[in-house]
Amino acid sequence: MEKKPEYLERTFLGSDAFKNPIAKDVLPQDGMDPDVAKTIVEHIRLNEAKADQNFATFCTTEMEKQADELMLEGLNTNAIDKSEYPRTAAMENYCVSMLGHLWGIPENEKFGDDFIGTSTVGSSEGCMLGGLSLLFTWKHRAKAAGLDVDDLHKHRPNLVITSGYQVVWEKFCNYWNVEMRTVPMHDDVLSLDMDHVMDYVDENTIGIVGIFGITYTGGIDDIKKLDSLVEDYNKTAKLPIKIHVDAASGGFIAPFLDGFEPWDFRLKNVASINVSGHKYGMVYPGIGWIVWRKNTMDYLPKELRYSVAYLGDSVDSIAINFSRSGAHIIAQYYNFIRFGFNGYKAVMENTRDVAKTLAKNLRELGIFDILVDGSKLPLVCWKLKDNADRKWTLYDLETKLKEFGWQVPAYPLPENLEKQTIQRIVVRPGMTMTILDDFLEDLQMAVKELDD
Ligand SMILES: *Cc1c(COP(=O)(O)O)cnc(C)c1O
Repeated sequence: MEKKPEYLERTFLGSDAFKNPIAKDVLPQDGMDPDVAKTIVEHIRLNEAKADQNFATFCTTEMEKQADELMLEGLNTNAIDKSEYPRTAAMENYCVSMLGHLWGIPENEKFGDDFIGTSTVGSSEGCMLGGLSLLFTWKHRAKAAGLDVDDLHKHRPNLVITSGYQVVWEKFCNYWNVEMRTVPMHDDVLSLDMDHVMDYVDENTIGIVGIFGITYTGGIDDIKKLDSLVEDYNKTAKLPIKIHVDAASGGFIAPFLDGFEPWDFRLKNVASINVSGHKYGMVYPGIGWIVWRKNTMDYLPKELRYSVAYLGDSVDSIAINFSRSGAHIIAQYYNFIRFGFNGYKAVMENTRDVAKTLAKNLRELGIFDILVDGSKLPLVCWKLKDNADRKWTLYDLETKLKEFGWQVPAYPLPENLEKQTIQRIVVRPGMTMTILDDFLEDLQMAVKELDD
């Protein structure tokens, strides 16, 4: 084969790489120019979701330029190497401390002494740790109370949760052989059913998970009510129980907005809380948090604490994951000092306003029942009215909206309500009134086209 002149090799449009099929099955023998490789990868990604039109994800798609720069500078660090990156480790602790206090731990209680926590890859790792903590502390309590916890026929541990759980809880139960006791949702209770939840609890219950931001709908479990039920139960129970709050989305919303009953460490029986930093914490995907408070019984068990070297000393490592970049921790800390309480508050208020406006406009179309209207968490969820009398479904609407570029998922509700199809929009910071306006125009067009 004749060698191409160099000027052509350097021109992507004229190069062999341009016309050759891309590598898919085996590692290519030879490499290529870095700019050409970059262009190819960009082309492969061309039709991936456009962030501003993606109403399906909870995750952050946009950060400030300064945060981008900090993350780039921190990408090559390893968060677990606390001796090598002691300042990043310190920032992680600052973040945990700020979260603990944001979630109702009084200021005189100190990080390390009165509460503890860690960053995680996301809420999934946080939930896994929260669940494991419930499991191990239950084992200790049960053993002390004389239960033969090694006899799984008699004492298989169980976890109580609404049927509106996120999939990580199913993973948790399967991975660790815990029986998952789901309390079904009803038409009129699209969250943990407080009239029935305690019927599911017995001496083998490791704890109850409250979900503060039900992923399917954007509704919330009434943690305050749950706390009082648990308080009553514990008064006479052979084995008292505690609550883990999965606040993947709500943990970064409720502290800044009015209209929420106490749901956090202000409640006596809440032992631990997780949140996704990459949802309303406004950091790119790859970070979550979990905090444990000491005043709850037997606290964080020893089975979850492993010591790692830190500046000639050692500190607890709690996370399941080992190596990962410190960039996300750096970015979370940046957000905390950049926005402060009032900054987050302003962002969340704007976001909720957009959600409420969206719900109002959807209602005015007259064909949707609004199940969750954005007045608590900034999510909106709806179904077609029973008497809407349409020859199309929400799945058709989803497809139609996709033609306009909008991603608005439709799906069935979980167990007991699976015959109902709903559609959901997660309003994220960055979804402005302008974007909403464009969306609503396209939505009306989509409905009209489907009607026709
Ligand atoms: C998103 C979510 C999770 C999983 O969180 P990741 O951060 O994506 O791992 C768990 N629970 C709830 C309620 C969620 O909304």
